[in-house]
Amino acid sequence: MVKDIGTEDTLNVYASDTRESKVVATISPYDPRERPWYQPVRQQPDATWSKVYTNADEAQEITISALSPVFQSLRGTRELIGVAAIDVQIDTFSRFLNDLDTTHSARVYVVDEHHELIAQSGTGTILDKSGHRRSLSNSESPLLQFLSQSIHNLEPSAPQLLAFDDESTTQYIMISPYQSDKRLNWYVAVVISADDLMGNIPVVSNRMLWAGLILGLLGLGMGIVVLNRLTVPLSETAEAAKQIANGSWDYPLPKRNRISEISQLLQSFSSMRSHLQASFHALREQLTRDNLTKLYSRQGFIETCDSLKAQQSSSGTMMLLGINQFRDINDSLGHHYGDVLLTIVAERLKAWVLAENGVLGRVAGDEFAIYLPSITAEQQLCYQHRLRQVFSAPFVVAGEPLSVNISIGITSDCAKADTCLRNAGIALSHAKTESNHVSIYTPVMAEQSKNKTRLLTYLRHAIDHDLFEVYFQPLVDIRSGQPFGAEALLRLRDHQGQFISPLDFIPLAESSGLIKAIGQHMAAEAMQTVKTEIDKGALPAKFQLHINVSVLELSDGDYVEQLSQLLERTRFPVSQLTIEVTESKLADNDPVLLDNMSLIKSLGASIAIDDFGTGYSSLAYLHKLPFDSLKIDKAFVDRLTRDNVDDSVVAAITKLSKSFGFSLVAEGVETQQQAELIQSLGCHHAQGYLFSPPLPIEKWPSVLWDDQVNSLNKMA
Ligand code: C2E
Ligand code: CA
Ligand code: CA
Repeated sequence: MVKDIGTEDTLNVYASDTRESKVVATISPYDPRERPWYQPVRQQPDATWSKVYTNADEAQEITISALSPVFQSLRGTRELIGVAAIDVQIDTFSRFLNDLDTTHSARVYVVDEHHELIAQSGTGTILDKSGHRRSLSNSESPLLQFLSQSIHNLEPSAPQLLAFDDESTTQYIMISPYQSDKRLNWYVAVVISADDLMGNIPVVSNRMLWAGLILGLLGLGMGIVVLNRLTVPLSETAEAAKQIANGSWDYPLPKRNRISEISQLLQSFSSMRSHLQASFHALREQLTRDNLTKLYSRQGFIETCDSLKAQQSSSGTMMLLGINQFRDINDSLGHHYGDVLLTIVAERLKAWVLAENGVLGRVAGDEFAIYLPSITAEQQLCYQHRLRQVFSAPFVVAGEPLSVNISIGITSDCAKADTCLRNAGIALSHAKTESNHVSIYTPVMAEQSKNKTRLLTYLRHAIDHDLFEVYFQPLVDIRSGQPFGAEALLRLRDHQGQFISPLDFIPLAESSGLIKAIGQHMAAEAMQTVKTEIDKGALPAKFQLHINVSVLELSDGDYVEQLSQLLERTRFPVSQLTIEVTESKLADNDPVLLDNMSLIKSLGASIAIDDFGTGYSSLAYLHKLPFDSLKIDKAFVDRLTRDNVDDSVVAAITKLSKSFGFSLVAEGVETQQQAELIQSLGCHHAQGYLFSPPLPIEKWPSVLWDDQVNSLNKMA
């Protein structure tokens, strides 16, 4: 490059190093002090980038220079003394982008603020024919024109994605501004066609689809395996739990599982099952076995019979066996020996029942149930006799021989064991009142037992509401015709006001234990009433009162104490009180009862043996009893005729009474003739409808039987 006087103010650039060679470029005017990169820094002394320019040398390289001012400091002031420039050849960028082009199908353009190319990918030059950098706006390419337009509209500093539709395809363009504070204001545009951008995607997605499908199947398979491992043991365990709840303890549990949580669960479940099973068996044992005798309990008996019944066609026979007066045995021996007796009874029965292929259970304190599956109704009585033989030999308890009597209720013909047992129970209650202590169930019994239950409820109601009344029936001295006293008799009306017979409710009151309350109430009321009447003068001062007392009351240790309190409270004269006790009930020789009878006598009251002749007491036994009078039962009075009078039971008893020195009352005298015959035998006291029915005290007659008495006296 030369500039001198010869070139004037032009700088010539020669092709070689002689002046003769070709001038390749001229720069005019050329002042070395006025370099294009120099001026801007001089005007504003700051580090900055130059514009992009073509180097005015033989290589004509496109250059950008990094410029910085150089200062000299002199005595506190600074003076610009020059500008330092570092040239960067723009080709460098194009070469870099060229490399990029071989790995990507995208094209990249870098332009300055005038939209002139600084660099581009690909092998082409950024210069036009005249050596100037190409401008996008002047380009013939519609894409580059679009690019120029877009840059023009571009918001500074924000990259933008654009799409440009070619004839064949869509070009996607990303324009990013590149700006620096040092006056650099460039744009980088990356252009890629839609085909290049997405051309592979369908292939990829197809492959992806397969891969996804395979992966999905794999996942599904694994899922099923894992689910199986997880859920199969769980659902099997749930099923096992259901089966166990239904009582099948041996239902198999799922096998050990490789998932530790599950196998832990299985283990816990299995041990829970074992514990449950053990407690369940213990519980069943308690429920189905009687602790004392180790026989079946009621529950166990019913279950066993039902399962037997299910296997056979005939209904078999059920026998319910009760030990008579077990409570007394228990009371006199003590509970321990009572238990011993029950165990011995159980042992004997067991041997017998086993021999008969039957089932045996203790279904209540003193009740044993026997089920004989193959015994028909016709054979029942025979078996009943054989069963009785089991009890014929005495039982040795506490070294003492004890004879035990039983009552037997029998039934067959029922499908369910508990119905059988209930019916046998009803038959047993009947058997206890029968003389042979055996009873075969009939449906009537069930009706009766229902009625009994109803009556019992009513009795309780009557006690609570004080519904009992006391009637008095005169006891008459036949000779004088005057009543010397009265027998107090209980009366109870039902809801309709009809009388319920004491013959119905007294036995029920006795068996239910209500008799004590009823008896106390009755005695108090009777004594109170008679005492009031005596005090009023309506009854003679020596008026005798007979009250009926149940043996159940009399065998109570407290009875006499309560009676004397009652006497004290009512201030009833004890010598005018007679206690009537039914003979038939006395037969069971109870020491407390005998003691009480003696005590009553020593209180000063009298004792009458009621319904004499209906029981079985021997005269020798009778002789031991402390009593003052006998009441001859109506049955004997009824049988009296003029022809048989001398050989009658009444005649015999009358003779006896004379030699033993007790008095007599004939009961149930209904006719004049009966009265006459009784009197002719020497029995002077009588009671019966002939004289008066039982009456409430208000209706007590003032004058009695003048006519009868007169005629009787005439006879005498
Ligand atoms: P009982 O002690 O033999 O009483 C006599 C029964 O014979 C009474 O029956 C009476 O009404 C009835 N009677 C009296 N004279 C005649 C007659 O000429 N002909 C007939 N056919 N019967 C006559 P009632 O009152 O129905 O009593 C029945 C039984 O109930 C009594 O028989 C007695 O054993 C019992 N009883 C009644 N009241 C009581 C009571 O307060 N306590 C207890 N423990 N038992 C009672
Ligand atoms: Ca009586
Ligand atoms: Ca009587």
